[in-house]
Amino acid sequence: MAQRNTWQRERVRDALADAEGFVSAQTLHADLRQANTGIGLATVYRALAGLAATGEADSLQSPEGEALYRACRTQGHHHHLICRSCGRAVEIEAKDVEQWAQRVAAQNGFRDPEHVVDIFGLCADCARRRDQEDVDAERAGADE
Ligand SMILES: [Zn+2]
Ligand SMILES: [Zn+2]
Ligand SMILES: [Zn+2]
Repeated sequence: MAQRNTWQRERVRDALADAEGFVSAQTLHADLRQANTGIGLATVYRALAGLAATGEADSLQSPEGEALYRACRTQGHHHHLICRSCGRAVEIEAKDVEQWAQRVAAQNGFRDPEHVVDIFGLCADCARRRDQEDVDAERAGADE
């Protein structure tokens, strides 16, 4: 049984590495289904939680409260810019944020501060597509 879990975890890890940007367990499960792996959704959830716990994957909450995962290229503490439309992610450093977090923690007498800061927005491609859709919609409306 342990052997089988390891095999499934490897497949989940590979699928996560192939995915572009942050993905939900459901999205990854759908990818694995297409590859006919027979891995269940509960196993995908467990594998992702395990990868996040060992630092092999980044996890964060979408603005809708859904857990999203990504195989991270950067080790150690860092932040993300995430496209809320396509899930594309950019890993960023935020020295200002590190200093600010340390300072406000110290000012309030808190020790060992940790923080999670991720920025959600529309990537350049999605923003361009969105603008184009608006133009198309206006044209369609004008024709009526
Ligand atoms: Zn990351
Ligand atoms: Zn995008
Ligand atoms: Zn930070």
